[in-house]
Amino acid sequence: MKRLLSCLHLKNLFNRSNLTNYFGNFFQKRAVSIGAAFFIFSNQNAFILTFVLTIKIKIKVEMMLKKVSSERISTMGESIFTTMSKLAFEKNAVNLGQGFPDFDGYAMIFESAYRAMKEGKNQYAPSPGIKSLRDVISVVNGNHYGVAYNPDTEITITAGATEALYCVMQAFLNSGDEAILFEPYYDAHFADVILAGGIPKFVTLHKPDFSFSIEELEQAITPKTKLIVLNTPHNPTGKVFSTAELKIIAEIAVNHNLLVVSDEVYEFLTFDSVKHFPISKLEGMKERTITISSTGKTFGSTGWKIGYVCAAKGLTDSIRKVHQWTTFAVNTPAQHAMADAFGTLDTYLPDFRALYQNKRDLLYNALKGSEYNPYLPEGSYFMMIDVPHKFDNDVDAAMKLVTEFGVAVIPPSVFYSKSDEGATLLRLCFAKKDETLIKGAENLLKALKV
Ligand code: PMP
Ligand code: GLN
Repeated sequence: MKRLLSCLHLKNLFNRSNLTNYFGNFFQKRAVSIGAAFFIFSNQNAFILTFVLTIKIKIKVEMMLKKVSSERISTMGESIFTTMSKLAFEKNAVNLGQGFPDFDGYAMIFESAYRAMKEGKNQYAPSPGIKSLRDVISVVNGNHYGVAYNPDTEITITAGATEALYCVMQAFLNSGDEAILFEPYYDAHFADVILAGGIPKFVTLHKPDFSFSIEELEQAITPKTKLIVLNTPHNPTGKVFSTAELKIIAEIAVNHNLLVVSDEVYEFLTFDSVKHFPISKLEGMKERTITISSTGKTFGSTGWKIGYVCAAKGLTDSIRKVHQWTTFAVNTPAQHAMADAFGTLDTYLPDFRALYQNKRDLLYNALKGSEYNPYLPEGSYFMMIDVPHKFDNDVDAAMKLVTEFGVAVIPPSVFYSKSDEGATLLRLCFAKKDETLIKGAENLLKALKV
């Protein structure tokens, strides 16, 4: 109910279906002009009649659209990332909302992709992905984490982590199966559980350190629980789950015979001395963990949409069945480029991490001491800040900041279903040029002075 209310609340502000809008506006515009003509040339009653007809047509179109759509998608609207980026563009605001770098990533991938194209690597790749990319991912996992995945049977290349998440939920959830989500959750985790007919159950990561209660996690588990969704480093909080926390989750997964879907797309973006630790490394976990990552994050090219899933053979077999009927295979030259990029990962990573740590520090220091009270993230490229008192809640703040103060942020209450904490927070993305971050912080601070 709470989710519905928050959805409806947001829906009023943001999430109106484009299709419904299109049809609605189409009839409305014409009917209103006919009405206006009647009003001018005939009488007022004709105008009222036309207006009533317009409303009726609009309701009919909306009902018709509802009927043709499946029930599964009936509560789904536009993603908050799309909405805020659109608003940022319309209002010419600095975009600290949607998570993507506003600068180019690893330069070598451009040459590499171009070379692959010129060499005629332009037809379908094998459905699981090109061999050289699967091989190098296997080597990277072995070297960095000591987790061995067979490149032929345990690694699959997908259209971004987004496709991987979709395939995984379709592969393992039956209708009515429950999935545990830590909230704030990444929006696709929630949507993919619903699309697979599953039921999400929530465990809150409480501020200020975004820790969870073991009791709350244990209480969320029922005989219907099939899997736990984990995301570390975490979007939107920037939390990196500690090894102790991962051990607790792993123990619960083993005791209740659950799968763990571990979204680790920000695995190489950890700061200071914090290290990423994959849950699959823990005893008894490799065979029940599905690990998802994305070269879009690692090599700073989110638009290329090359993701991957690592999982034991039996699990991979199921995931590949869905992948085969979803995209079959993904962009061939981009896979070649990513294989080359992974080949130089160890020389690339120190600069990559330093670049993002400097950006994190720039934004954090600019807002520190203000009413935004930034929460220093240990990983990812997101930072939570508090909603200042002058705003009613996160949605009010996000709307006013983008329309009146020229800076787009994400209102995170859309990522919570259980706790109200989201209304007190805002998410900023610091994968932006320094000048974007400086201007964005300036605009945020200006809003406090008015
Ligand atoms: N998971 C998380 C936690 C993300 O933040 C994102 C995108 N930012 C994705 C998955 C999707 O990754 P991709 O762009 O590779 O589809
Ligand atoms: N993951 C990105 C974010 O958190 C957005 C990706 C998308 O727009 N689908 O902002």
